[in-house]
Amino acid sequence: MITQKKIRNVAIIAHVDHGKTTLMDKLLKESGALGDKQFGHSRLMDAGDLEKERGITILSKTTTLFWKDYQFNMIDTPGHADFGGEVERILNMVDGVLLLVDAAEGPMPQTKYVLTKALQQNIDPIVVINKVDKPAQRANEVSEDIFELFMQLDAPDRHLDCPVLYASAKNGWATDDLDKQTDNMEVIFRTIADYIPAPKGDTNAPLQMLVTMIDSDPFLGPIVTGRLHNGTLKENQAIQAITADGKLLEQGRATKLFFYQGMEKNFVTEANTGSIISLSGLSKATVSHTITSLNCQEPLPTPPIDPPTLTMHFSINDSPLAGKDGDKMSSLFLRNRLMKEAACNVSIDITQMKGEGFQVAGRGELQLGILIETMRREGFELSISPPQVIYKKGEKGEQLEPIENVQIDLEEAYLGKIMEKISQKHAQVHDVSPLGYNRFRMQLDAPTRTLIGFNSQLLMHTRGTATMHRTFKGYEKHRGPLHTIRNGALTSMTKGKATAYALMSIEARGTLFISAGDEVYPGMIIGEHSRENDLSVNPIKGKKLTNMRAAGSDKDVRLAPPRQMTVEEALSFVRDGEKVEFTPNIIRLRKQ
Ligand code: GDP
Repeated sequence: MITQKKIRNVAIIAHVDHGKTTLMDKLLKESGALGDKQFGHSRLMDAGDLEKERGITILSKTTTLFWKDYQFNMIDTPGHADFGGEVERILNMVDGVLLLVDAAEGPMPQTKYVLTKALQQNIDPIVVINKVDKPAQRANEVSEDIFELFMQLDAPDRHLDCPVLYASAKNGWATDDLDKQTDNMEVIFRTIADYIPAPKGDTNAPLQMLVTMIDSDPFLGPIVTGRLHNGTLKENQAIQAITADGKLLEQGRATKLFFYQGMEKNFVTEANTGSIISLSGLSKATVSHTITSLNCQEPLPTPPIDPPTLTMHFSINDSPLAGKDGDKMSSLFLRNRLMKEAACNVSIDITQMKGEGFQVAGRGELQLGILIETMRREGFELSISPPQVIYKKGEKGEQLEPIENVQIDLEEAYLGKIMEKISQKHAQVHDVSPLGYNRFRMQLDAPTRTLIGFNSQLLMHTRGTATMHRTFKGYEKHRGPLHTIRNGALTSMTKGKATAYALMSIEARGTLFISAGDEVYPGMIIGEHSRENDLSVNPIKGKKLTNMRAAGSDKDVRLAPPRQMTVEEALSFVRDGEKVEFTPNIIRLRKQ
């Protein structure tokens, strides 16, 4: 068993593409922690392409490295705040953070949120400026920018003096002196060992471990992961799970103990105070519960898990075009997939409906959007109803709705525009303050309901330069109806392939979502009308043959490019009585 003094728990904070995966791979290889069969495997930490594309980490992961007689537990942090309390819980496990920054790009707003939280909790940072091999690297300036950022965040002097390392993760080396290239990552290991404190905690006290992550394994069953805040844990030891308010949830045994090295599980027979460990054997315990030995009833403090605020109805696609794109078309598949999701993700609740399908409740459109996108990529064809906010009744019977705290960072040039947009959403703006470099931060709160689809709008109106963080604030009195933000639908009255000729005349009525050649069916929404009412149109109408010459051929018809929607945009567009049809490659909207 590794002694507590030799354990280091470190969270990695990195903007997407700054090289976190590459760095972790190289550290894993150099630490010799990997079996041979994994050497050829080059992206150990990354769970999905989707995370990469969206620039976020969806589920936090841990991986353990060994160096000399040290054990380093490295934890990935989510870069966004849709999954309330997650960042705080992760930071609660570590005594240091590795801030990884691209030597050309410099610090990005996304990493700032997590860094702010880390500095607030007085966690020691180590800066690693990566990609110093790039011709466009400006490591010295970037290091100044990071210093600047620390100042902005009111970091104490100790943090301003933190170690700054330089790396070319791709080429497998790191250095503490930019003028001295090396051929290994040694300095990163050494700096973590020297600079980051060993975990605190009393080895002789009864076991207490706060569950920070959950997972599920086909052989082991439910798995919980967390840090041993006090005490030690042995394989097969009798344990119990207690809730944040001290109620006994279940008792059982720690049937297996392990940590991850890359994606491999490494089983151990005991774990010391301060270790980050995964265990099987309990069935009900989940994030925010405390695992203790039977002689301890004391839960560890934890930020509460936000309640689900949004629900959508999921069923297998049953449109006239169903089954042409995806290969997962059975309700049983859907059920198993959703159950699996709920087993690994505390923030999702699944209810099987009496009729068709499942009600999926989550904590935001981003979270549910990611689930839909992931399932599309797995081959599912889904039919999804418009997102519904989960309302509650207040003490006097009044209707309450979920309200979110929202923080928007944006450039000065867009401030007026976004103020105007947000004022239409029953938002209350609390503060607008300068961040320097012509950037501003807006603090406001707004109903979850009115924020659906807002992220896409925000990006569109700021040319992708704004960032938004949302956290659940609480249930408050309903803020009143929202003026309709969209017009009526243009729906197809016929089945077939849309023709350019027909679309040309429909285009005059609104904005099209389809192109010539796309398949349509009765009830399919092919565009947004320029007026408030729905309009039925015929998109497959052809020209009379006799007119062919006079009117020129179909090729000469110039149509404006159709409006392409993202998952979230489609979900925010549909309203009652409408659905979105998601297949692996296509998003269609339809009347129910
Ligand atoms: P992540 O999104 O932070 O996990 O980033 P990745 O590790 O996937 O790296 C993103 C891209 O940057 C990949 O194309 C890497 O090959 C590249 N990259 C990573 N480290 C370095 C480096 O040190 N130098 C250069 N030039 N490219 C790097």
